Amino acid sequence: MWQTLGILTGVCVFSEILYQFYAYRFRRRATKAEEYTEVLFFPDQKVACIKHFISECESESCSFSHEENSLGKLFRYLHQAQNSIDVCVFVITCKDLADILIQALERGVRVRVITDCEQVDIPGSQIWRLRSKGVAVRTDDSSFFMHHKFVIIDNKKILNGSFNWTRQAITGNQENLLVTSDPKLINLYKDRFSTLWQQYKVKKDQ
Ligand SMILES: [Zn+2]
Repeated sequence: MWQTLGILTGVCVFSEILYQFYAYRFRRRATKAEEYTEVLFFPDQKVACIKHFISECESESCSFSHEENSLGKLFRYLHQAQNSIDVCVFVITCKDLADILIQALERGVRVRVITDCEQVDIPGSQIWRLRSKGVAVRTDDSSFFMHHKFVIIDNKKILNGSFNWTRQAITGNQENLLVTSDPKLINLYKDRFSTLWQQYKVKKDQ
């Protein structure tokens, strides 16, 4: 009888240890995921003040938003880049976002942009300005759309969703931009960016 009791106790202790071990691992994983995930929803009520979000706005009558909003957070994510920014976005007409890319390039960040060939010459397009400042831009060469809207920052963070870099997307449309540091997802997006970067090399490189 004592022997049976001993075995039962052993089994109980072992299952408890096993349970605690998996509970710990699950909690760790959940916390990790929470730390690095965010969703930016648009439209914002007002356009964010670029100066406020990347340095300091000294204007007392600034007409742009100093509230914590989605564009402001996007400014900050891009501005915090230290090594690389890989942009793969269908339409880029927002001057402030183009400015942040140019500033990043000027402080030594490698900036690469992939966009749709038919959006390069639309009114307000920032592509020629980016090119003239030295940003490497490549486009598809097809009547189908290069329709992605994602950015990889420092190979550590991706922002992906429906958000084109346009004024209409910022203050008009319903849009989302998922931000994550999930390494598996980052690798998938990095691979896709590299594939497209190579694919668009010959035809439309600057
Ligand atoms: Zn301001």
